Amino acid sequence: MQKLLITGGAGFIGANFILQARMENWANIINLDKLTYASNLQNLAELEEDKNYHFIQGDIADLELVSNLLEQYHPDAIINFAAESHVDRSILNPLSFVETNVVGTFKLLETTRLYWEKLSSPQQEKFRFVHVSTDEVYGSLNPTDPAFREDTPYAPNSPYAASKASSDHFVRAYHHTYGLPTITTNCSNNYGPRQFPEKLIPLMILNALDGKTLPIYGDGQNVRDWLYVRDHCEAINLILREGKFGETYNIGGLNEQSNLAVVEKICTILDELVPKPGLSYSSLITFVKDRPGHDRRYAIDCGKLEKLLGWRPKETFESGLFKTIEWYVNNSNWVESIRSGAYTNWIKQNYEHR
Ligand code: NAD
Repeated sequence: MQKLLITGGAGFIGANFILQARMENWANIINLDKLTYASNLQNLAELEEDKNYHFIQGDIADLELVSNLLEQYHPDAIINFAAESHVDRSILNPLSFVETNVVGTFKLLETTRLYWEKLSSPQQEKFRFVHVSTDEVYGSLNPTDPAFREDTPYAPNSPYAASKASSDHFVRAYHHTYGLPTITTNCSNNYGPRQFPEKLIPLMILNALDGKTLPIYGDGQNVRDWLYVRDHCEAINLILREGKFGETYNIGGLNEQSNLAVVEKICTILDELVPKPGLSYSSLITFVKDRPGHDRRYAIDCGKLEKLLGWRPKETFESGLFKTIEWYVNNSNWVESIRSGAYTNWIKQNYEHR
């Protein structure tokens, strides 16, 4: 069975990936996470007794820590999910995005290179480094432009996108210069269970359930492609096993939606699932001042992944959105823990004494 060093595994996508790997028992996991505000170890609470799962609190930029982890565990692969990931926060505080996404990724690559160069040839050939990135590196599309392909030139517009673009370039350079066996994935917007409720879909679900307004930027016509998180995790697993070193793969949901359409769909499902007498959830929609530099449209052409590795998303937007809303409705303890700060206390109780 593969042994994977996952970075950022206490966040949304990383936690979903780890749960899948452990529940289906196809990889042993070492999870290195700094535990920023976006993390939640309760996502992984069911693995507490699992002997094939190890959690280490730490920074990908900590050269000594990462070097020791590599020497201790000898993972077959690293999957780098760790990042500052929220565009609005990158506009308010770009420095932390440079620190983790640019410098952190660079330091992780450098530590990995020093470790990898000391491995025997068969071990070197087995090893791989998968870097998880975003479609936002490609910039913004007009309504009739073709979707982003792997050879679309980078044109990042937000500090978040610029920091991820920079990290992608370092990953590319480490393959080109040192031969490090890297693969980069560029994925569209994810949604699904366990996403921190600052992102559009969980924010709207939870605001609606609370009877709060549903704030939509500008005219609501900004378009994103949406992918159910489980489909993303399956694509990463496939690329980990069958992807070619030095390549990049676009991953998308084949599902472009305007922000307004997304919120209206959430409202329609909630009207059915959690009806409130006299309330149509869509009456809570309000339009607010647009985000500065807000990209108009992202769309992903994931034909390469389909053609070469046979991947396609399984979930439709309707089925994925229904499952996501059901999860938030049925997991009020998780939601409350985020709101009350109890999960921060839980982390302290469970990890600070170890
Ligand atoms: P997230 O914000 O939910 O989680 C990020 C995790 O990284 C957190 O647990 C955080 O504590 C950890 N982290 C942050 N800085 C760290 C550091 N210096 N060292 C170690 N850990 C650190 O993010 P997510 O939505 O799960 O995204 C995961 C990855 O996927 C990111 O690289 C992101 O750019 C990329 N991505 C996300 C989406 C999306 O829609 N969420 C889409 C495409 C790509």
